[in-house]
Amino acid sequence: MSDAKKHHVTIIYGDGIGPEVVTSTRTLIDAACPNIDWETAEAGAEVFKKGIASGVPQETIDSLNRTRVALKGPLETPVGFGEKSANVTLRKLFETFANIRPVREFPGVPTRFSGAGIDMVIVRENVEDLYAGIEHMQTPDVAQCLKLISSKGCEKIMRTAFEFARSEGRKSVACATKANIMKKTEGLVKSTFERVAKDYPDIESWHIIIDNCAHQLAKKPEQFDVIVTTNMNGDIISDLGSGLIGGLGFAPGANIGHDVAIFEAVHGSAPKYAGKDTINPTAMILSGVMMLRYLKEFEAADKIENALLYTLESGVHTRDVVTDTPPIGTKAFTEAILENFGKKAANWKTRERTAMKIPARPATTRINKADKRETIGMDVFVEFDGTAAELGPKLEAACKGTGFKLKMISNRGTVVYPLTGTSPDVVDQWRCRIYLEQPVTEPSMAQVNKLLESIEAQGLRWMHIEKLCKFDGVDSFTKAQGEN
Ligand code: NAP
Repeated sequence: MSDAKKHHVTIIYGDGIGPEVVTSTRTLIDAACPNIDWETAEAGAEVFKKGIASGVPQETIDSLNRTRVALKGPLETPVGFGEKSANVTLRKLFETFANIRPVREFPGVPTRFSGAGIDMVIVRENVEDLYAGIEHMQTPDVAQCLKLISSKGCEKIMRTAFEFARSEGRKSVACATKANIMKKTEGLVKSTFERVAKDYPDIESWHIIIDNCAHQLAKKPEQFDVIVTTNMNGDIISDLGSGLIGGLGFAPGANIGHDVAIFEAVHGSAPKYAGKDTINPTAMILSGVMMLRYLKEFEAADKIENALLYTLESGVHTRDVVTDTPPIGTKAFTEAILENFGKKAANWKTRERTAMKIPARPATTRINKADKRETIGMDVFVEFDGTAAELGPKLEAACKGTGFKLKMISNRGTVVYPLTGTSPDVVDQWRCRIYLEQPVTEPSMAQVNKLLESIEAQGLRWMHIEKLCKFDGVDSFTKAQGEN
């Protein structure tokens, strides 16, 4: 075969059960699609142990830069080595912003929902949200994780969800958020969804609050077609989704970027099963099938998928499927699939698919442009071991003569000063909302320094300031709980 016809693919066997599920998948792909040229690369536990803190060596980055496609086993972040998950590092380095996770009922795999017709896809935003991993100990006792959501990130994930729905002929996209509580971050997800949905009038679009989404998933999962959601919500509900159809052994996934894609199962390295030849390779095999479709190897993809489904339908399965038939091992299961090449499950309809359009990388970082900006004050976060009644007067004194005035103080988001007559428990991190006496476009550094010096002069340590702005007249911040 000429090299031009070959697909170059990076293969990462991963940790724990990774080598078993990836070997099984590779065996089937090699049998169905001989034109894959694999480049083996490393990431995860062994790499951390070599002292590479990211868990991803440069050779692996170089390989993915060459191939732009990877088949990846689960990676473990061992306690005591490295800090960040090597999975998240790979997803973020290559900006695979969409994680597509199909959840579909399988023939021959009995569950509480068998016969309900579960057939949905969870589209999880994959690089932003709390998984941006920007964390600080603001005091020795109070930790903070920044939840970052951008218009650009929302725009890309929403378009991906609708484009994916179109490519599979799906009828509806539900956006699941917590916009009722997190008005700015999850609110931006919801408003972007509503704006982008207008460009896809052929697809029904609806919003659902994420907690109700979890409830509805457990109660009536067949109502969902595509669910698009944030990183953290998507992480949780996709494991929930896998539980509906037989467990994590059945949940495949694809991390899709503008020009790089990494295919991996939803599950982790399940270390207790490593090397035991008992785990279910289905999730990884179906991730490989998604990869073949991404590479436009549709025939090979259908061949593997049909043989796998036929195998399951005929009662052949691994230990995680509970039926009257005794289970077989991972290797024997893979061999059974190979033997069933050319056969089709009676109770499975392969979807008509067209190639999915991956949204273009937006040319600018600015989507919502604010013509008019003004700064009306600052939230100053201070450390103080005492009560609100003691802190309030100190802040009022600090503001004197600086051009700022104290609006309120909150502790963990609830107003505690001016005193409310309630008695919330407090910690040593306080958010002091301080307004400018005269709003300006930007306060001068001299003015800000004067305030911070004055706060320090009260014996208070400040660790973080956040400007309070109005963009085109709209507050850039939310009120504290109980703030008027
Ligand atoms: P896990 O590895 O996904 O395993 C949780 C449970 O799911 C297993 O104990 C097993 O359930 C079931 N399971 C998972 N894969 C299965 C398969 N192929 N066949 C049958 N059953 C399967 O989650 P974890 O134990 O929380 O995490 C272990 C490590 O994996 C951690 O270091 C974590 O950071 C990492 N992780 C990596 C990824 C990734 O690489 N993308 C994702 C998630 C977690 P039973 O015990 O009921 O049999």
